[in-house]
Amino acid sequence: MRTAICPGSFDPITLGHLNIIRRASRIFDQVLVLIAVNAGKKSPMFTVEERVDMVRRSVARYPNVLVDSSDCLVAEYARRFENAVLVKGLRAASDFDYEFQMDLINKNINPQLETMFLTASGKYTFLSSSVVREMAHYGADLSGLVPDELKAEIEEKAKIGRQKHG
Ligand code: ADP
Repeated sequence: MRTAICPGSFDPITLGHLNIIRRASRIFDQVLVLIAVNAGKKSPMFTVEERVDMVRRSVARYPNVLVDSSDCLVAEYARRFENAVLVKGLRAASDFDYEFQMDLINKNINPQLETMFLTASGKYTFLSSSVVREMAHYGADLSGLVPDELKAEIEEKAKIGRQKHG
């Protein structure tokens, strides 16, 4: 069985992420969306538990997609699966530079681990979690950026953040 691991912070999950996950689910037997707990990223908008729950609800309609979180290195986590492949989305040249470096680092840790890239859909090349957080902060409509079922809670979380920080 071939497993694709789609790692990221998913803070929050966007339609760009979901597009990559759905396409990977058609290619691989199973897709594992891995919410990587990144110690370097300070003050996330959503806790890991919230993100896991949001991703779970967003992928509920895809029977071969699972969700997990981990605070270990992705290259170490991947050892749990036989023949797992990392699948990432590529939006722009800047993603490429970063991902090329990540792959070299991952191969140092786990030489068997391959990374495959799916090019971002034209509709979502501009879309990132930070764009969503920024738009939510200013109270913008998140339609077409995040799964419909998550819109209200992202807007609500941003509202609480605005009240807290002025
Ligand atoms: P972000 O860059 O939005 O904070 P993550 O760190 O959670 O997202 O990224 C996880 C993975 O999802 C990365 O491989 C990233 O390239 C990919 N990704 C993020 N947004 C998009 C998008 N709009 N289209 C395609 N891939 C994307």
